[in-house]
Amino acid sequence: MKVTFPHMGNLWICLNAMLQYLGVETVVPPPSTKKTLSLGSKHSPEFSCMPFKLNLGNFMEASELGADTIIMAGGCGPCRFGYYAQVEHEILCDLGYNYKLVVLEPPEKHISQLLSRIKYITGNRSWFEVIRGIRFGFAKSRAVDDLEIMAMKLRPREKSPGHTDTALTEALKLIAETRRPEHLQESQNNSAEIMKSIPTESRQVLKVGLVGEIYTLLEPFANMDIERKLGRLGVEVDRSIYLSQWVNDHLFMGLVKGLRSSSLYQRCSAPYLRHFVGGHGQETLGGAVYYNNAGFDGVIQILPFTCMPEIVAQSVLPSFSQDTGMPVMTLIVDEQSGEAGLMTRLEAFVDLLAENRDRKKELA
Ligand code: SF4
Repeated sequence: MKVTFPHMGNLWICLNAMLQYLGVETVVPPPSTKKTLSLGSKHSPEFSCMPFKLNLGNFMEASELGADTIIMAGGCGPCRFGYYAQVEHEILCDLGYNYKLVVLEPPEKHISQLLSRIKYITGNRSWFEVIRGIRFGFAKSRAVDDLEIMAMKLRPREKSPGHTDTALTEALKLIAETRRPEHLQESQNNSAEIMKSIPTESRQVLKVGLVGEIYTLLEPFANMDIERKLGRLGVEVDRSIYLSQWVNDHLFMGLVKGLRSSSLYQRCSAPYLRHFVGGHGQETLGGAVYYNNAGFDGVIQILPFTCMPEIVAQSVLPSFSQDTGMPVMTLIVDEQSGEAGLMTRLEAFVDLLAENRDRKKELA
């Protein structure tokens, strides 16, 4: 069995760690590129959302490297994600790919449901080992998130442009290459040192919260590297969803305490949206409220074209912006999106935020 999985930011580092620790052979798909997207788009239903197309492209490219089994997350609720795994699998079968499919559905009642699905892949490994493997993957997701958070704070303050990105790549490599759980802490310490060695200068920076659909928030190819672009424009970024938070909320049923969680955003969203609309639509509104309360300068919502939950959130965000005075920009991405258009919009938005800040200072 050679197992592959779709890309979503640095998810591969965590899944690869867990599976390899448990003795499962893995095939990491090549990073998503325009070729991946056009392969996926060519064989996807026209109005499927961008993550579907990229997933499909990832699986087609991984097959060329020998993968024969797909692991996909499942789901339910008023969005198409719950059908993704089966529909993608059917398309691949029609195209002649011979993939087996394993869907990791979020546990409904108890975490043991998730464990038994993972054990299906890992065969006769003991429960102890399976749990250790999962913990190892999760620990890596936290390490990756910590590094990404550091990078988002450092980029707008770095002395020479690009230094943070080089350091982040090196630091992530250390985490990705750690094979044993007992060595992870040392790798984390070393990678933190790499990040701390970036020369910075004290500057006043703008702060922007990124909210929206999880895939477009986490996958730099899908969002055209928005965190880096904003960082280079002198903006410190935070995003409403991190990988470890999503795993804890959806797969571990919130068992790990001390992480920011969806329930925080659900509480914050109460004045605007009180119920689940699928995906992360409710969290998008809650995130906007959270960033307003935390004194951020602006909010950017990112969503794939035709994403149903985010369209609901998008329709409510103007009321939030009117009530609070918080500038909000929505970016919709698909295979037609271009970098130049995005850059122009980001520059204009950042100019507006800077003017807002200056005006507030004059009034104070
Ligand atoms: S949340 Fe949006 S982008 Fe994600 S699967 Fe659902 S409809 Fe598609």
